[in-house]
Amino acid sequence: DVSVALFTSDLRLRDNPVLAGALRAARAVVPLFVVDSGVAAAGFAVPNRAAFLADCLADLDEALRERDGRLVVRRGDVVEETCRVAAETGAGEVHLAGGASGFALRREERLRAALTADGRGLRVHDAVVTAVPPGAVLPTGRDHYAVFTPYFRRWSAEALRDVVAAPRAVPVPEVRSEPLPRAASLARGEPSPALPEGGERAGRRRLDAWRRTGLTDYADRHDDLPGDATSRLSPYLHFGCLSPVELVTRARQAGGAGAEAFVRQLAWRDFHHQLLAARPDAARHDYRTRHDHWRQDAEELAAWREGRTGYPVVDAAMRQLAHEGWMHNRARLLSASFLTKTLYLDWRAGARHFLDLLVDGDIANNQLNWQWVAGTGSDTRPNRVLNPLAQAKRFDPTGEYVRRWVPELAGLEGAAVHHPWRLRAAERARYAYPEPIVDLDDGLARFRRARGVD
Ligand code: FAD
Repeated sequence: DVSVALFTSDLRLRDNPVLAGALRAARAVVPLFVVDSGVAAAGFAVPNRAAFLADCLADLDEALRERDGRLVVRRGDVVEETCRVAAETGAGEVHLAGGASGFALRREERLRAALTADGRGLRVHDAVVTAVPPGAVLPTGRDHYAVFTPYFRRWSAEALRDVVAAPRAVPVPEVRSEPLPRAASLARGEPSPALPEGGERAGRRRLDAWRRTGLTDYADRHDDLPGDATSRLSPYLHFGCLSPVELVTRARQAGGAGAEAFVRQLAWRDFHHQLLAARPDAARHDYRTRHDHWRQDAEELAAWREGRTGYPVVDAAMRQLAHEGWMHNRARLLSASFLTKTLYLDWRAGARHFLDLLVDGDIANNQLNWQWVAGTGSDTRPNRVLNPLAQAKRFDPTGEYVRRWVPELAGLEGAAVHHPWRLRAAERARYAYPEPIVDLDDGLARFRRARGVD
């Protein structure tokens, strides 16, 4: 009388319907995590997320041990290993969280076929990875929402499932487990120096602190670059250390403008998941073609990646990403707009670089936010261009964000740090900082020509 709870993007005990479902179905449960060779083969296993994942698994194991259980770890193809564990323990059912990416949907399909062939069942649980499952709210006659505002209206009216308590005990049968993976065994390369700590407990600490200090003012401060006043919960949501259903439920209970704005951002997350679930190829291909012939320029791409474009706010953003494996949303918007619109380089190259570094790097949110910025996605104003200087002055008016990340300009006071090219030559020479790689007006004119707008 055993069932398997296969952990994927739900590395938590609280409000986890997968684990709760597996426990309801049988007397003993195998809490299983498979280090899937398919993730590495897809190029998705990178040092920053590997480090965070290793923390998550260690934390999950510890929390299970406090409940007389443990985490069972296997390595290999996730479908083969899961079936093997089910056979070894005589499990009747495998429980899994429903996903949205092509990768997750294929995994689910293969698992169902393999388990059925063995005479076992697969139970897929919804509203684990997202608050509202993809496909749960639909416009008339279509398989997904293409525009956020009408989606949000329907999403907001949807009743959420109840929050599930963490189990008190998790009885685990005798079964072989590999040791907990260390970060270095999950991906090759050095992680960024200032990564957040992974795991459900670290996530809850951050959540509790942020609910006390950040939620109330979130509506006013979420775009404030130096203020850094957003929740920074995205990595915990990506790995499922925190439950989106729980976050939405609790924010609604708290109420107020800050909580409402926060819930709206969580709806954006669901929006992108429902779009990707309906159009898995939007991970690679333009969701809406604008007939772009993107430029190829390895030098400019490298300057952008390395934070030496000569536009201080763009460079600050890129250096924050390299240092923390995370970037403020406003910084993501303006650096992505700079790459795709000012330089007119392919959004795929930018999205790839973000996925290489972001701890919260997520196919749905990353690829579809990139497409939104590039104007090939769901933005209803696809040709809008964010001017990096105007963005800098508006969202970093004191220049503090730039001075934090571009120390070679720290001697420039106030907003002057945003345009070192305006300094007199003698003074300019004192700063070892590059000249702008592109003239903003030229970039804008080139983009407008390419898109055929005047
Ligand atoms: P908060 O402002 O505190 O928001 C709370 C939560 O809402 C976030 O943790 C996140 O889960 C969700 N959220 C907020 N904004 C968005 C959004 N625009 N789209 C989807 N979900 C959102 N987010 C990722 O989680 N993974 C990515 O790979 C990713 N790539 C991005 C790439 C680009 C080019 C852009 C413009 C945005 C990207 N985002 C991505 C969305 C957003 O920037 C981050 O979710 C946010 O900055 C995370 O910080 P936070 O947790 O402090 O956010």
